[in-house]
Amino acid sequence: MQKFTSIILTSRDTNEFDRIYIMYTLEQGLVKAVAKGARKPTAKLTGHLEPGTLSEVYIARSRGLGQITGAITLHDFSNIKKDFEKLGSVLEIFRFFGKNFAEGEKDEKIFSLLKSFLSQSSTLGLGYGIITEAFWWKLFDLLGHRPEVMKCVSCRKKLAEKTKKFFSVEKGGIVCAGCVSNFSNLLSLTDNQIKLLRIFLGNPLRKIAKVKVNNEELEKLAKIRKAFRKYNFQS
Ligand SMILES: [Zn+2]
Repeated sequence: MQKFTSIILTSRDTNEFDRIYIMYTLEQGLVKAVAKGARKPTAKLTGHLEPGTLSEVYIARSRGLGQITGAITLHDFSNIKKDFEKLGSVLEIFRFFGKNFAEGEKDEKIFSLLKSFLSQSSTLGLGYGIITEAFWWKLFDLLGHRPEVMKCVSCRKKLAEKTKKFFSVEKGGIVCAGCVSNFSNLLSLTDNQIKLLRIFLGNPLRKIAKVKVNNEELEKLAKIRKAFRKYNFQS
């Protein structure tokens, strides 16, 4: 039997009484395991295996799918589960994990980023929008897609303030006004948004949580993030 520090991502029913759980673990990255009898009214484990919960999960493995033999909640992040909007952002992130991660690929930095995101998101009020946006960009970075936000991706020159700038999803970074004619499909972005991207890539979430930002800037960044994600990852 092995103990996993797990963030429960999702579950689905199987057989008559069982349920398969997908979790992101510190020890082995994505892990799938079955909880036998989880749908019986007498099941004791299910409360510790709700999506969005951080739990210690015990799994016995012989051949095939591991079997969950025990689970203890470490943190239930109940403030996320009570908030429709927060829950929506978190479930979108969980879906991304399910689609883009393979079983058994351990990454402690990604685990710690996800855990910190859940904990910040759970405690913050209105400021959680910036945390969600920052989380995505930090995740892209950890997955090997760090956007270039210091220099123009085309001419490699340092970006000057108060000039027009654009984002190229294909090139993975910022394009200066002088290089615009070499590209199609550019998205425009402001100096402020570039500053935010630099803050996201250079600071932990708990510090980013203190940055004041208006929603319009975040919404524009979210558009670029969605296009960037669609180009580089499974959705
Ligand atoms: Zn350039």
